[in-house]
Amino acid sequence: MTAILLVRGDITRQRADAIVNAANSSLLGGGGVDGAVHRRGGPEILAECRALRASRYGRGLPTGQAVATTAGKLDARWVIHTVGPVYDGPDSDPAPLASCYRESLRVADELGARTVVFPAISTGVYRWPMDDAARIAVETVRSTPTAVEEVRFALFDERAYEAFSRCLGPE
Ligand code: ADP
Repeated sequence: MTAILLVRGDITRQRADAIVNAANSSLLGGGGVDGAVHRRGGPEILAECRALRASRYGRGLPTGQAVATTAGKLDARWVIHTVGPVYDGPDSDPAPLASCYRESLRVADELGARTVVFPAISTGVYRWPMDDAARIAVETVRSTPTAVEEVRFALFDERAYEAFSRCLGPE
């Protein structure tokens, strides 16, 4: 059984085996979580991202996939970078967003990570509505077989925290 916990605040302040980055497909940094991860984690992370671009992901990391690097100076062993889908109205396909969570957990299992922290993927610059994104996140983590013992969602603002709380339901 994987425990699911919610915490408020900056994901880069979390201690865990793996921290998930809401990256963009360039893997070369951006705003939001991505900016914070590289700022606090230092240049080692970007150096590995560049190496991944040069080797496996010349065209960028596809939406819904995940790949790990060092966590640099973060209080974690790995950063798992995943690319959420951009919201494009009510007909947007939720499958790539679910895939971000599933693939990140698959990578975490490969690494042997036992504790993993996620942000609310796609709910910032990529505009996915918070309630829907929270439901997809919680349902996907709940239904994905994994050896990860603890999944934590680090939620930046109260609105995100409340949305995830509603999806998690009473303890
Ligand atoms: P995306 O491009 O996938 O939408 P963003 O990084 O823009 O990713 O935002 C994803 C979510 O993470 C948003 O809800 C945003 O408010 C939140 N967020 C931004 N910075 C941080 C941070 N340092 N820690 C945790 N959550 C953050």
